[in-house]
Amino acid sequence: MFDHRELGRDLGVFATDPLAGSGLPLWLPAGAVIRDELERLAKDLAHADGCLDVHSPVLGKRALFERSGHWAKFSDDMFPAMRLGEEDADDELVLRPSNCPHHALIYAASSRSYRDLPIRLNELAPMFRAERSGVISGLTRVRQINLDDTHVFCRPDQAGDEAARGLRTAIRAQRILGLPVDYVRLSLRDDSDAWLGSPDQWREAEAALRDAGGPVLAEAGLPLVEAAGEAAFYGPKFDLQVHDSRGREETIATVQLDFNQPERFDLTYHGADGAQRRVMMIHRGTVGSMERVVASLLERYQGRLPLWLAPVQVAVLPVSESQDEAARSLLEGLLAKGVRAELRCDDSLAARVRHARRRRDAVIAVVGEREASEGCAQVTDVAAGVRQAVPVAHLIERVVDARDHRRRLVQWDA
Ligand SMILES: [Zn+2]
Repeated sequence: MFDHRELGRDLGVFATDPLAGSGLPLWLPAGAVIRDELERLAKDLAHADGCLDVHSPVLGKRALFERSGHWAKFSDDMFPAMRLGEEDADDELVLRPSNCPHHALIYAASSRSYRDLPIRLNELAPMFRAERSGVISGLTRVRQINLDDTHVFCRPDQAGDEAARGLRTAIRAQRILGLPVDYVRLSLRDDSDAWLGSPDQWREAEAALRDAGGPVLAEAGLPLVEAAGEAAFYGPKFDLQVHDSRGREETIATVQLDFNQPERFDLTYHGADGAQRRVMMIHRGTVGSMERVVASLLERYQGRLPLWLAPVQVAVLPVSESQDEAARSLLEGLLAKGVRAELRCDDSLAARVRHARRRRDAVIAVVGEREASEGCAQVTDVAAGVRQAVPVAHLIERVVDARDHRRRLVQWDA
């Protein structure tokens, strides 16, 4: 069994420092590479679904979160409000617990017609949880969560299609990552008073999700399990459920229907008859939070990430000094194609190979005297368990092809 914290150390993904604060991991260079690739995937998938990129601030006035309902329902999990001074007494700022209120304001910033909808706003943005230090753990329980977050604003008659689109993309994202989804949960309210909105609204929204989810899940071959009491406080949702290496269940992506935020922020569009109509809102996280996805990927692959995600895609190791030139020329050929390659000359060959294996470099290319004279490298593809002499041009081509596999997956399925 592998723990992502241990793997994170081996690969140099993240570090923590008591001076920075617990639950606030520092992303090291290898971690930044993985995260950047995931952000690119999230963006590619969002763009393929017609999402528009936006940016919004990580903090906002307390009044914003009172309006959204977060302050009443969620303030125990929020950081305390910050007051700037006496003249700004009504201007308390808080670190946001979610990105939805800002996106609602972005929607409200323009007037919208029924023909403009749906509008899908995407942002890979940080949000904050005041987790107690006792429950903080590696990347799985953190105080800043960087979430691939989309808010769809649509007409009620589009909500089913949009929920299905979100669910399909979330399942696709997890398949591209190679993370097995165990089942999809339809999370509903229960009999308590923890929920905003009328019973009728809830019934309608729950029925819309049930109808939208059926065909998508049949196509994906995934079961749907209904769970009372697991909804968001503003509406029912689909949750993609996975199990971590310790068998604990967690939610890795969600699609949530929301009839509450549009009312709270008075979000409307001009209907075909010219009347103002209430818009529907759908929250969708398809790749998920960067922290949780990286933890899941490390554990799933035991650190041996698919080549497109590997921090070092090729380690180039000359056997001795007389092959330095041939090795450097291979390195330059790889770098010119945008491959993440590293040349290491220090230390014995055995020590360099050990180091590359511990860091889970995807491909190890050793250049000895014979390889140098034949224009080859002795290549070990660790994940595939393959070791063979490969001509340099062929090696570069194969690595580029494996790297571009992820991009082709998004294009083919779109
Ligand atoms: Zn949201």
